[in-house]
Amino acid sequence: MTDIMTPAQRSARMALIRGANTKPELQVRRLLHGMGYRFRLHRRDLPGRPDIVFPARRKLFFVHGCFWHHHEGCRVGHLPKTRQDYWKQKFATNKERDARNLSDVITLGWDAQVIWECEVKDVAALSDRLRALLGPPGGRVKK
Ligand SMILES: [Zn+2]
Repeated sequence: MTDIMTPAQRSARMALIRGANTKPELQVRRLLHGMGYRFRLHRRDLPGRPDIVFPARRKLFFVHGCFWHHHEGCRVGHLPKTRQDYWKQKFATNKERDARNLSDVITLGWDAQVIWECEVKDVAALSDRLRALLGPPGGRVKK
C-alpha cells in the first residue's frame, strides 16, 4: 500500500500521524525548555487556565489545536463535511470562549499570545517567534 505513495506523500502522511499522537502543547513546552526558558503550567487562577505562564515576565501562551479552536485559514481548521450545523455551533462557542479568555487575561495585565498547533511544525520559525516574544531566557542560564 505504501508503495503507491511518493516520498513527499509518505512524509506528509507521517507528519499527520505524528501530529495526531503528540500534543502541540507538549511540543511547545519541550521547545521552550530546550531554549532555556522556565515557566508554569495551567494556572488555574487565571481565565482559561493558560497553558504556559511566565509569571515574572507577565507573559502567557495559550497553545491551541487548529481543529478544536478552529484556526481560520488553516488546513486543519476546516469545517468537517458532515454535521456542519453542529460543528459551526461548536466552533463558534469555542472561539467565543477563547476570545473572552484572551481579553480577560489582557485586562488582568498579562501579555497573552496564542500559539497554533500548525506553527509547531516549523520549529525554526516558532523558536524565532518565541524568542522575539519572550526576550532572552533569563538569569539562571549561564552567560
Ligand atoms: Zn492552524
